[in-house]
Amino acid sequence: MHPDYLIVGAGFAGSVCARVLAEAGKAVLLVDKRRHIGGNAYDERDAHGVLIHPYGPHIFHTNSKKVFEYLSRFTAWRFYEHRVLAQVGAQLLPIPINRTTINQLYGLNLSEDEVPSYLEKVRQPRESLQTSEDVVLNSVGLDLCDKFFRGYTKKQWGLELSQLSAGVAARIPTRSNDDDRYFSDSFQFMPAEGYTAMFERMLDHPGIAVRTSCDFKDIRDQHPRAHIIYTGPIDAYFDHCYGALPYRSLSFAHEHLADTAQFQAVGTVNFPNEHAYTRITEFKHLTGQQHVGTSIVREYPQAEGDPYYPVPRPENEALFKRYQALAEAAQGVTFVGRLAQYRYYNMDQIVATALTAAQGLLETQP
Ligand code: FAD
Ligand code: UDP
Repeated sequence: MHPDYLIVGAGFAGSVCARVLAEAGKAVLLVDKRRHIGGNAYDERDAHGVLIHPYGPHIFHTNSKKVFEYLSRFTAWRFYEHRVLAQVGAQLLPIPINRTTINQLYGLNLSEDEVPSYLEKVRQPRESLQTSEDVVLNSVGLDLCDKFFRGYTKKQWGLELSQLSAGVAARIPTRSNDDDRYFSDSFQFMPAEGYTAMFERMLDHPGIAVRTSCDFKDIRDQHPRAHIIYTGPIDAYFDHCYGALPYRSLSFAHEHLADTAQFQAVGTVNFPNEHAYTRITEFKHLTGQQHVGTSIVREYPQAEGDPYYPVPRPENEALFKRYQALAEAAQGVTFVGRLAQYRYYNMDQIVATALTAAQGLLETQP
C-alpha cells in the first residue's frame, strides 16, 4: 500500500482525520502502538462483562452541534448527565460547588438569591486571574478552596494551585442554584454501544487501513511519500531535542464487585483530601448497563507513565512553543491532538480540531 496519508494515533484526532481524508478519496494508513483503536477513549468489557474505560472515565459533552452531528454518523446515543460528589469530612457534597454544597457544608439555608451575596462575602477578589489559585480564591474564597480544590489539585498534578495556569481550575464553575450536573453543555450523551464501537464504524471505510500494535518509529521510513498526521506527544516526534515536555500520568486501579449492584450514588466521587487516589468512578452509571455486579476505577496520579495530561503552566507553554516552531518548519507533517498540540482538550474539542485540520489539508493538497 502506498498511502497518501500516514496517520499516527487512532484516538479521536487520528480517526476523525482518517475518515475525512478517506471520504475525499485519499488512501490512509492509520497506525497505533497500542493493541486497539480509540486512543484514551477506548472501552471494552472487563472479565466480568461490564463495559469499562481502561484509561479512565470518558463522558462526552459538547456545545458544538457540528461535532455532535458528525459523531452521530457513527453512533446512536444514550442521554447521560454526569454528577459528581466530593467527600469533605463525613459529608458527600455536590461539586461543582452549588447552593446545596454551601448549605449542607455550613448548615445554612440560603436561597438562590442569597448565594451570590454569600460568595461575595467569602471570595477574595483578584484583579488578574493568572493561576488556578487566583481563579478559585476569586470565586469561592479560602475555606471552599481548601476543602475542595487545594488537596485534589496537589494530588492530581503534583503541583500547587498557584503553580498551574488559570485554565485548569476554570474548568469547574461555581453555581448559585441547585444544578448538580458536572457539565452544563447542551449535548450530554454517551455512545449507546460504547466508544470503541463508534470508532470501529468511523474507521470502516475502504480508503482506511488500520494497523494496531505498530509504532510509528518502526515504519516511518517505509512511506516516504505519505503526508504524516502525528497525534502522539510532540516532544517524542522531535526526539526530545529540547528536553521532555511534562505530561501528567495516572495509574488506574480497576476493581469488580461481584455482589454489589451499585457501589456509589453517582458516576464519580472525588476525594480532595483523603487517599492517594483522586476519584472513584462506577461505570454502570455512565453506560446504563444492567449487571448483577459492578466495576469501579480509582485514579492514582503519577509523574511517570503513559502521557495523559499536558501540564498547563507558563514554563511548559514556553517549551511547547519551541517544539511548535520546529513543527511549523517541518515539511510533510501535521500535528493534531491533545498530546501533539499540548492542549488540555476534551474529546469534542479534539474532534473539532481534527475536522478543521483535515479539511485544511484537503484545501492545500487537493
Ligand atoms: P489520544 O486519545 O491520546 O490518542 C493518541 C494515540 O496516539 C494513542 O492511542 C497512542 O497510543 C498513539 N501514539 C502515540 N505515539 C505513537 C507512536 N509513536 N506510534 C503509534 N501510535 C502512537 N475528555 C472528555 O471530553 N470527557 C471526559 O470525560 C474525559 N475524561 C478523561 C479522563 C482521563 C483520565 C483522560 C486522560 C482524558 C480524558 N478526556 C476526556 C480527554 C480525552 O481523553 C482526550 O481529549 C482525547 O482522547 C484526545 O484524543 P487524541 O486523539 O488527541 O489523543
Ligand atoms: N478540581 C479540584 N477538585 C475537584 C475537581 C476538580 O481541585 O473536586 C480541579 C483539579 O485541579 C482538576 C481540575 O479542577 O485537575 C479540572 O478538573 P476536571 O474534573 O475537569 O479534570 P479531568 O476530568 O480532566 O481530570
